[in-house]
Amino acid sequence: MKFLADAMLGKLAKWLRMLGYDTLYFADSDDDELIRIAIREDRILLTRDVLLCRRRAVRARCFFVDWGSTGEQVRQVMKHFNLKLSRENLFTRCTICNGEIVPISKSDVADRVPPYVYKTQNEFGYCERCDKIYWRGTHIEHVLEALQR
Ligand SMILES: [Zn+2]
Repeated sequence: MKFLADAMLGKLAKWLRMLGYDTLYFADSDDDELIRIAIREDRILLTRDVLLCRRRAVRARCFFVDWGSTGEQVRQVMKHFNLKLSRENLFTRCTICNGEIVPISKSDVADRVPPYVYKTQNEFGYCERCDKIYWRGTHIEHVLEALQR
């Protein structure tokens, strides 16, 4: 399942990426553009705009996200689409650019992560698109903790 979040939902988009869902987000794009992308790429349009959601072209693939904290919005989307929280899917998508995170060997990140991280972590990944380095350990615990709240 792939998503497209409207300009109001940047934080939600970030969270969905963290959970491993392919989620596009544009800080500025007009409604027609969003509709075109949703259809062309077979994405669910997430929006805070009830009128946009009612438009015939996207009605079937649009989810209106109700007001609430980001955590509450994540909960709405997960519940509606019956998304399960899976440890393996966490951090498979870059939260910055939605690129795919692929494994990278520890020796290749030696000079690119803080020494403490290098010493304590063994699994690393990097974003194919923007080159950001990720490591699973502590990030995952924080995410799970935040989601449980
Ligand atoms: Zn990236």
